[in-house]
Amino acid sequence: MKRLAEQKFVNSRLVKKVPFHCEVIKIDGESVYTPRYAEIVARMFELRIQGKGAPSIAKILNEEFDAPKKLRKGEFSQHFVLRVLKDRATTGVLVMRDNTEVADYFPAAISDATYLQANDRKPFMTGVVTAKAGTTNVIKGTTRCNECHNGVIVKTSKSKFRYLKCVKSSHGCMVQRSLQYSKVLLPILDSLLDVHWITKALKDIKRSKERIDYHEKQVVKLNQILQKASNLTVIENLVERIEQHDVYITFFRTIESGNHETILDGLNVGTKSGRATLNLILNITFKKIIVDFSSEQITLVTKIDNHTQKRPASINDIRHANVWELQGLSSLLLKDDVEVSATKLRQLLTPPTQTK
Ligand SMILES: [Zn+2]
Repeated sequence: MKRLAEQKFVNSRLVKKVPFHCEVIKIDGESVYTPRYAEIVARMFELRIQGKGAPSIAKILNEEFDAPKKLRKGEFSQHFVLRVLKDRATTGVLVMRDNTEVADYFPAAISDATYLQANDRKPFMTGVVTAKAGTTNVIKGTTRCNECHNGVIVKTSKSKFRYLKCVKSSHGCMVQRSLQYSKVLLPILDSLLDVHWITKALKDIKRSKERIDYHEKQVVKLNQILQKASNLTVIENLVERIEQHDVYITFFRTIESGNHETILDGLNVGTKSGRATLNLILNITFKKIIVDFSSEQITLVTKIDNHTQKRPASINDIRHANVWELQGLSSLLLKDDVEVSATKLRQLLTPPTQTK
């Protein structure tokens, strides 16, 4: 089986590089993968399941193992840990560039169950679910600074509002200004409900079906693990993840049914899962969202057809009432502990009409 797969893909650009835990040795002139560092990988996953973060895991690995010479810095780093934790090759799966998978291609360092338990990142999201509970950066992953094309971050200020700034601001990017978070997020949400141009992007039914399938499979797998789990923290974690998958399933069914305008209904961005879902919606809809901090404009580019729309970063022309009705909105736009009603929030954010 393995021989066949190798013959098929060897010398093919489809094959990604050798996974960290493996080494290629020659036996009778034939290349064979051996699991040289499987123990390190297994330990890494074990620590992750115990709830440790990447920096702690890296530190512990450096204490317990001699870092292999092939590591660039000569030591385990948190970036390395994050990369390996996300690498399906740890379970022996070869993921090719076109996303087809060949099971049992490499010797596995850990089981599928361990991989899932440590890590159920969604394959179509980038750096999204790594977000801590309570994170407010729901535009993470899609949104870029106009000047340097790096991401934007949410920061608090002395006022009660949250602000956005370029992540490289004062670290190499010329943009020093920040923009009120609401001025960026609300026009994005408003556009999302703008059926005329967004429907096409969301109506990617085939992909919705694939995603429903994916999440349903994850729910089945997680339920199987749940039945065997005895540790309370693990159980809580599993239940939370199953709930999140259920939210996604509901969301994709909404898309499939064609009711795009109702996408924000029932979403509560005051909760972790609501925020993750909104982030997901934005990530699957938009290829990129560019924030111009100087001219206060946002450029929205959908994934389908690269359809582009420019809008002023402004809350004065929000056309859809649903945007204001979005549950938990104030917990995103205002500092912690400031929670106000939709009406109050609207009053707070909308500057009084100017009279000359
Ligand atoms: Zn920048």
